[in-house]
Order: sequence, then structure tokens, then C-alpha cells
Amino acid sequence: MAVASADSLARVTADVIGCRACPRLVDWRERVAVDKRASYRNDAYWGAPVPGFGDPSARLLVVGLAPAAHGGNRTGRVFTGDRSGDWVFRALHRAGFANQPISEHRGDGLELSGAYVSAAVRCAPPANRPTPAERDTCTPFLVRERALLVEVRVIVALGAFAYQVVATLAGVAPRPRFSHGVEMGLADGTSLICSYHPSQQNTFTGRLTEAMFDAVFSRARELAPPVRGSWRGGRSSVAGEGGQLAGAVDDGDDAEEDGHGGGEAPLAQAERGGRTQARTGDDGEGQQQRYPPVDVAEQAMSDGPGNGEGAGAHQRGGHRRPQR
Ligand code: SF4
Repeated sequence: MAVASADSLARVTADVIGCRACPRLVDWRERVAVDKRASYRNDAYWGAPVPGFGDPSARLLVVGLAPAAHGGNRTGRVFTGDRSGDWVFRALHRAGFANQPISEHRGDGLELSGAYVSAAVRCAPPANRPTPAERDTCTPFLVRERALLVEVRVIVALGAFAYQVVATLAGVAPRPRFSHGVEMGLADGTSLICSYHPSQQNTFTGRLTEAMFDAVFSRARELAPPVRGSWRGGRSSVAGEGGQLAGAVDDGDDAEEDGHGGGEAPLAQAERGGRTQARTGDDGEGQQQRYPPVDVAEQAMSDGPGNGEGAGAHQRGGHRRPQR
């Protein structure tokens, strides 16, 4: 996809916040915001699409599935206000990408340095399962963000859903099977690392431990070392166009669209120079240029070891598993 030169992260944010392209999700996000969970009955829910958040000069891009009904859909910031977010920002803090391990609400002082957090779908979906059409309608926002985050060196996909979206947009074919710690090179010279989603289904069962999660972000840190320092060992500067974007500001963020049809993959187009083909091994899932007709959202919520190959399989063909 061609990205207009006048585009900006602030514009993407505004487009995301104002988007009403998916009737089912619009209805759901707004209904949840009215009904509320009893424990949050005094909260003013965001009830709108949730934009990306972080450092415009990010070298690490973290991509999740979608906002949680009572997490991001309540607080208005991605991975904020729910248990999954606790895991994400604790890990980012330990890896030196965040100034604090807490992410509770948009005014909590959280700042990222060298990292940007986003999602494949920006509205909370019922049962955490966006439809393929909703996914395809929303992913152009991710394409635009990726094109604008020109310093990105590594993408961490949280869960199989995010992985399939990112890998497809980046033109990875055949696509290696998803499993925790799988790593591959993308056509633009950046790297993609897979992580189990920090859903309670995974964290409560021990499929994903904090050590496993830390290993992913430690590897991301190796691949994307800080240019201007990091939060590890003290605050560093956060440069870029206006510092933190999106959820940190109370202005909106909204969406837009973009197809995944034939031709060069959008993320590959967005990237400049570098390689032209992903490094893949022999455990791919086939040459798919479009999303497969599988319930990837279901996978994303339960992408435990049983859904992937064994560790050894992922060490072939250039894939790498982080040290645990
Ligand atoms: S395209 Fe994205 S932001 Fe817009 S309504 Fe659909 S899920 Fe929400």
C-alpha cells in the first residue's frame, strides 16, 4: 500500500479513534462501555477504538490481538488496565523499554523509550475473536504505523493472531508455524519474534512464564539496542515527534483501512531497502498471501506449546528460540 507522505502517527491515531467501519465491533465496544463490569462501574469507559502507544522513534514494535473489553476498551490505551497489559509492561520495563512496570490508565505516567505497542485490531471484539473481515478492515492502521515507525528493527507478535497478521503483511511465505520464541528475518532486514500471548489462559496455566516472556524481550533488545539510551538504569530522553503518542494523550486515535490483496505485501512495501525475502525454514504453513480461513483468534488465546512444533523444529532454517 502506498502511504501518503503527509501521514503521521498523530493522524493514524486520530483516524483510529474515529473509526466506525465494523458495525459489530462498534456495537460491542459501545455496549460494553455502557453495561460495564461491576468492579468498574464508576469508571468512564473509553468505548472507542484504541490507538497504538509509544515512542515515535521506536526500534521495537509490539503487536497484540485487540483491546480487551474491560482493559483497553475501558482505559483507552493499548494493553492498559488488564492482566495481559500487566505482563506486557512489566516485561518492557525489565527490558528497559518502559519507565515503569505499571500500566493502569492514560494518566499514570507510563512512557516508552524505543518501543511502540499496537494491535492488529483496534476495537474490543466479542470473545476476543474478530472476524477475518474485521481484521482485514483494521490492519491498514498497522500498515500505516509500521511505515511511519522508520526506526523499527524488530517486531514482537503477541499470539498467533498477531503473528499471522504481521507475517502476512510482511510477505512471509511460507510462514513458519507459530510457537513461542520463533524468530525470522523480514524482507526489509528487520526481525519478527513470536511470543505466546500473555492472556490469562496462558499465564495462569504456566504455558507462558515471566521468564519465557522476558527471553523474548531480551532478544528484542539484542536486535534493537537503544540509540538514545533506555529506561534501564535511569531515564533517558524520548525523542521523536512530540514524544509519546496515542493513549498517552486524551485526543483521539482512529482508524482507516487498506487491503491485503495481491501484489507486494503492505509491510514489505512500507519498508525501505533491505532484503526482499523472509528467512524461513522448512516448517512453514504454505504459500499464503492472504489470511488463512482459520480461527486465528482462537489460536491467539490459547497458543500454547501444543499448537506448535517442538523447539527443535524452530531452530531449523534460521529460526531461533530465545534462551530461557
Ligand atoms: S476498522 Fe478497526 S478501528 Fe475501525 S471499527 Fe473496525 S476494528 Fe474498530
